[in-house]
Amino acid sequence: MTTKKSPLGKLISDRTNKISPSGIRKFFDLLQGMEGVISLGVGEPDYATPWHISEAAVKSLEKGYTIYTSNSGILELRELTCQYLKDKYGINYKPADEILITVGVSEALDLAMRAILNPADEVIMTDPHYVAYDATVILAGGKPVMVPTSAKNNFAVEAKDIEAKITKKTKAILIGFPSNPTGAIMPRQKLLDLAAVAKKNNIIVISDEIYARLTYDGEHTCFASLPGVKNNTILLGGFSKAYAMTGWRVGYAVAPEEIITAMTKIHQYTIMCAPTPAQVAAIEALKTGETDVVEMVDDYNRRRKVIVKGLNDIGLPCFEPKGAFYAFPSIKPTGLTSEQFSEGLLKEEKVAVVPGSAFGKCGEGFVRCCYATSLADIEEALKRMARFVKKHKK
Ligand code: PLP
Repeated sequence: MTTKKSPLGKLISDRTNKISPSGIRKFFDLLQGMEGVISLGVGEPDYATPWHISEAAVKSLEKGYTIYTSNSGILELRELTCQYLKDKYGINYKPADEILITVGVSEALDLAMRAILNPADEVIMTDPHYVAYDATVILAGGKPVMVPTSAKNNFAVEAKDIEAKITKKTKAILIGFPSNPTGAIMPRQKLLDLAAVAKKNNIIVISDEIYARLTYDGEHTCFASLPGVKNNTILLGGFSKAYAMTGWRVGYAVAPEEIITAMTKIHQYTIMCAPTPAQVAAIEALKTGETDVVEMVDDYNRRRKVIVKGLNDIGLPCFEPKGAFYAFPSIKPTGLTSEQFSEGLLKEEKVAVVPGSAFGKCGEGFVRCCYATSLADIEEALKRMARFVKKHKK
């Protein structure tokens, strides 16, 4: 919590003062100006967006298509996204009023929280979790409630542990699987158990499925596709990770009409519409990007195997992450905190990883290593980490 004491600082809202700058960004400021660093840090693909996707946007710009779109997003993009969800997971959403195209899942998360939360409403989430989860809840006036998860359970969450946290103030459960930072997935049965708890207690489930396409052990289970939960679910998805489109800033929320209408009200006054060229690129991605996704996922899988084996071999126990592009090894054998480990590794060996503590209390004792980087860099990073671990082992 940052409470500013300066005269101007006192004018900053309590809600803003309550949140800290992202632990990821703070750490990456240290990187500025350092030469020869191998980054396993920022969570984004090392690929450029496939050219045919970028080209579609370039052509639209050449034709002067630079105007606002409908607040909800280009109809064709909404139609294609709904069709995609139907083909992939068998769920039906209406392009006219059950989907909103957003500025990435980032905006969709913020809108979802602001649309449903009253002051002090509680949102249950896992610890560790993606850095924006608690921040968006706090900024919307709500209260994040943590459910600890651990390597012992492969960082999946048990429905009974979530149920134990439900109070009269609980408005929603926020899940994000495959997970950033752990790479964990939720087995279908565990999602079914969670669905039963949400239904019984009439609680909304916000399911951030931005990594849905990045799974390495069978297909992803879409939460909204489970029997009887669609009416209580806000499903968030996007183009950033699967299509290597982080900088385009385009994602979506699908949910029952009343929720989408509420989210659209906020979106239309604050954002108007997602960037027009980015929406054009997303249309192209859905039409012709499937082969690219499959190729990139195959490649991440090769890198995943190398890094997980490598980390275990050098004495940093790492459970097998089955989704996203993160490995989350324990650094406890070194006796260092995750911040000390990350800072030391950067200064002594020029390898950037993110301290697990940036993702919540239960992230302490771990670091996040993003393996969306070349195999050569992964192999070199592992050599440097081995040296560091040998030097610091308790
Ligand atoms: N959700 C998770 C779990 C993420 O890891 C990220 C980005 O790292 C986001 C949401 C934000 O994605 P977008 O680029 O669509 O805003």
